[in-house]
Amino acid sequence: ALTPDQLKALVRTVPDFPQPGIQFRDITTLIGDGAGLSASVAHLAAMAREAGAQKIAGMEARGFIFGAAVAVQLGVGFVSVRKPGKLPVDVIGIDYDLEYGKDRLEMDPGAVSDGEQVVIVDDLIATGGTALAAVKLLRTAGARVDNALFVIDLPDLGGAERLAAAGVDVAALMD
Ligand code: 5GP
Repeated sequence: ALTPDQLKALVRTVPDFPQPGIQFRDITTLIGDGAGLSASVAHLAAMAREAGAQKIAGMEARGFIFGAAVAVQLGVGFVSVRKPGKLPVDVIGIDYDLEYGKDRLEMDPGAVSDGEQVVIVDDLIATGGTALAAVKLLRTAGARVDNALFVIDLPDLGGAERLAAAGVDVAALMD
């Protein structure tokens, strides 16, 4: 399996996206590489297994790619945490602040059982706002959320500290 350094070399940095001054870490190149995708999923799956995941939750849309693959590796179910207006049932939702602007996530409250250990998987943690919103939704639905896993952590933005303050341990494949 590829090492974390080899995986890091597969991430493309795109300057000035989506706005001037932002260095976007693009995982398109990582998932487009067969060895890169399978090693990323294998590393995340080992961490999720260690955390005792009974379900995996992923955020639309890049969290679906890694999260669903990890769930398959573990043989557990996948919970989709969605952008607004996508689910055909009554949802619970949460509005949250982004680095630039606002967003909203929704989920089916019946997607988890009371006390079920749910591990969050997403491509990247920056400020932690998105992951924290997902934690709150999942806990409102009755899940236990103690761990969140990412391909990339941008540690200068303090996301891991923000999640730690909410009782969630953060781990990532690379900084
Ligand atoms: P946060 O809410 O932690 O500030 O931002 C993380 C969310 O925004 C994640 O859902 C992630 O997909 C997206 N995101 C923010 N910046 C980047 C980036 O540079 N690269 C990628 N791939 N996603 C990003």
